[in-house]
Amino acid sequence: MSPDRYEEVTECSLYKHDRPSFLIESHHVVPKSWFVDVPVITPVVNVCPTCHYNIHVMIDDFVAIGRLSPRIKAPPPRQLILAHQAMEMAREKGLTPKGTL
Ligand SMILES: [Zn+2]
Ligand SMILES: [Zn+2]
Repeated sequence: MSPDRYEEVTECSLYKHDRPSFLIESHHVVPKSWFVDVPVITPVVNVCPTCHYNIHVMIDDFVAIGRLSPRIKAPPPRQLILAHQAMEMAREKGLTPKGTL
């Protein structure tokens, strides 16, 4: 195996973390569960598990109360942007957002 093979898709695309995760996950910008009987059409971003979880917590706040709850003190901006995008794209596509966690 060539050395550069080890370097592919091992970084969070949102942030350069001090302690990078080697478990990178695919986040569907519009959650797959929001699609019903239609093809799932959504951008996908590679994120670490921590960013991924935070994005879904924010999405679920938007779904539940229409804003971030006070438990989220300082939302990392790039995570927040993805949470906003989920809601905006769901609106554009006429989907009904629901809790994701
Ligand atoms: Zn996700
Ligand atoms: Zn991350």
